[in-house]
Amino acid sequence: MLVLKFGGTSVGTIENMINVKNIINDGQKKVVVLSAMSGTTNALVKISEYIKNGNVDEALIVIDALRNNYNTTIKSFITNQELYKTVFVYVNDVFNTLEALVNKRFDTLMYNQIVAQGELLSTYIFSHYLQQEGINAALLPALDFMRIDKTNEPDNFYIQQNLNRIMAEAPNADIYITQGFISRDAEGSIANLQRGGSDYTATIIGAILKAEEVQIWTDIDGFHNNDPRFVDNTKAISNLSFDESAELAYFGAKILHPQTVMPVRALDIPVRLKNTMSPESYGTLITNQIHGEGIKAIAAKDGITAIKIKSARMLLAHGFLKKVFEIFERYETSIDMITTSEIAVSLTIDDTTYLEAIVEELNKFAVVEVDNFMSIVCLVGNEIIFHTDTPNLFQILQDVSVRMISYGGSNNNISLLINTSDKIETLKKLQRYIFENSGVLV
Ligand code: ADP
Ligand code: ASP
Ligand code: MG
Repeated sequence: MLVLKFGGTSVGTIENMINVKNIINDGQKKVVVLSAMSGTTNALVKISEYIKNGNVDEALIVIDALRNNYNTTIKSFITNQELYKTVFVYVNDVFNTLEALVNKRFDTLMYNQIVAQGELLSTYIFSHYLQQEGINAALLPALDFMRIDKTNEPDNFYIQQNLNRIMAEAPNADIYITQGFISRDAEGSIANLQRGGSDYTATIIGAILKAEEVQIWTDIDGFHNNDPRFVDNTKAISNLSFDESAELAYFGAKILHPQTVMPVRALDIPVRLKNTMSPESYGTLITNQIHGEGIKAIAAKDGITAIKIKSARMLLAHGFLKKVFEIFERYETSIDMITTSEIAVSLTIDDTTYLEAIVEELNKFAVVEVDNFMSIVCLVGNEIIFHTDTPNLFQILQDVSVRMISYGGSNNNISLLINTSDKIETLKKLQRYIFENSGVLV
């Protein structure tokens, strides 16, 4: 069994949906996970924000614009009149339901219900299109099998039982279509796997079904060696290890949800990244094998807060770090980067929910400084800390002020902490120092 996930752009236009149909219609049994059509989840988030802030008119304007877009799409896409009528009713029911929410009290449950509609719409429309084209597909509602537990981890036992049960109800289907991103929570309410979560849905399903391979089809020809949104001349990497891709995704490479490889890594199920608009391109194959050497790729993660904690005794006394870590542990706040000196420890967090309380506790025995609007730039590659080209990266120190460096924590990762305002320049310069002009000071 294969599991194929198609992202927002891949189902964002009629032309691309036809590409998807051609890719999946090869007679092999498979599960197809779809995201919302591009722009839809962002629009749904906007609607939620308007409702939350009591901006009813603005919410209605966005709902109306989205309804019109969908009605235009289905009119030209679903040409069979019977199927069109069915899809029209479904789509307009979704928008009627959204309209009915605008005057209600906003809470997280309402947010989750609103943002779930994108994947429900795309899969409903696409599965009816496949039916119109005579393709033997069954729609598996993710809300009937996908569930996360109280710690937001997939509830694998529940997912396995229920996925097998509903797949068995359509034993002859060639293609099983389901929604990415959405799930139930431990109470059974609608929840989700966080933004970009359809990738994670695909690998959760791939692990449960012991798939041969999970394919992530997107709008670019694989994992690039730097962020193509900010840097020119980036290149696709043919092979990455699970560890390398996990690290890059965690540190901001948008092409993969941070948790994507977790479910499949231990089972050694390969993840292949492919371009829906250019299926003949090789893409990137992620396995447990290590290929190449030196710095392979660079990614950056924004929204980082740096905390410098100076020991009030001006000495990193025995037990000091333990006290510091216990506070972060108590507030369930994970630390990304850490550096120490004789008198101080600097660390970074990305979740500031409990920052105030943490600082208050640290202040009892230390002097604390907090810096916001920071980014971590992460360089990844097999054994990079020993590679002869690696020192080129330190040319960056002459151009950009670097607040922290983490080198040697693992042999395969080097991280720099910089101001977010310096991020694009840093990524561009690193691209030149490392990939274009290796060894040459520019
Ligand atoms: P999808 O909607 O298919 O899930 P995403 O927008 O989530 O697509 O991810 C693909 C996008 O990720 C690319 O178009 C690209 O702009 C961005 N991206 C960021 N970093 C990388 C990288 N290192 N390699 C490839 N794409 C990247
Ligand atoms: N539609 C969701 C989002 O935009 C999930 C995804 O695209 O993976 O975040
Ligand atoms: Mg994505």
